Amino acid sequence: MVATPIGNLEDISPRALESLARADAIAAEDTRVTARLLEHHRVQGKLIAVHEHNERRAADSIVEQLAQGKTVALVTDAGTPAISDPGATVVARARAAGFKVVPVPGPNAAVTALSASGIADGPFLFAGFLPARPAARRKALDALSALPYTLVLYEAPHRVVECVEDMSAALGPERTLVIARELTKLFEQIHRCRLGEAADWLRAEADRRRGEFVLIAEGPAARNESAKPDWERVLTTLLGELPLAHAVKLACKLTGAKKNAVYARALQLARAANSRRS
Ligand code: SAM
Repeated sequence: MVATPIGNLEDISPRALESLARADAIAAEDTRVTARLLEHHRVQGKLIAVHEHNERRAADSIVEQLAQGKTVALVTDAGTPAISDPGATVVARARAAGFKVVPVPGPNAAVTALSASGIADGPFLFAGFLPARPAARRKALDALSALPYTLVLYEAPHRVVECVEDMSAALGPERTLVIARELTKLFEQIHRCRLGEAADWLRAEADRRRGEFVLIAEGPAARNESAKPDWERVLTTLLGELPLAHAVKLACKLTGAKKNAVYARALQLARAANSRRS
């Protein structure tokens, strides 16, 4: 299982190139796409086609080749095979027949987008492509909306506006959304906004709706995390009006924040205020 670039043809490891060069056959999703990659890196290889419609048949022929002692490299058009892409059936058949399956890691659009999203490290849920039909997509989003995870989706350009509108309706307009477009390519764009602003941002320029998209919506837990300073605001206001212990007690009551943290911050603020006065 050899991962290939998601745009920039240079994003491929020496080990991946060596695996392709050494394989007796390269099973590819679209042989023309892989032929361009091989040509760019001056690697020669025997290409065979494995697309979604013939994955079962291709799996049988790959297992036959493995049985003859051959090595088969499996690639898709872009990124990591079997991630919103063909490959899983071939792997399952090859494993079931007792053959070793070796992953050769590399690019993946979801992880590439997450790494540059600025969304805090934490659990995320990769949901791939949501259903294309609006009713099914909304139902899927409703089911995902309560989960305490950052949500990572793939979406096609002609559906991206309706998808962010449905996301805003299901997850709420306040959550942060990162729109990662054309990653590693010439027109790469990574835009961060609130979900409620995303459709307008996309509509504002036709280019913003072109290319390939990863959508990342911050989870509700992460949003609470970033809303944490709220207790600080409440505390600061109360400290201006009340004695410290009373302000701390009330800030905890109003915001649900932990007493130790609020008390420590109140002492810091009081000390800073005193030193400004002296
Ligand atoms: N197996 C691939 C991977 O590991 O990321 C995903 C293949 S899936 C068929 C294609 C989708 O991945 C695109 O529609 C888009 O949502 C996302 N994608 C792939 N390349 C991308 C890129 N360069 N920039 C943004 N999204 C990309």
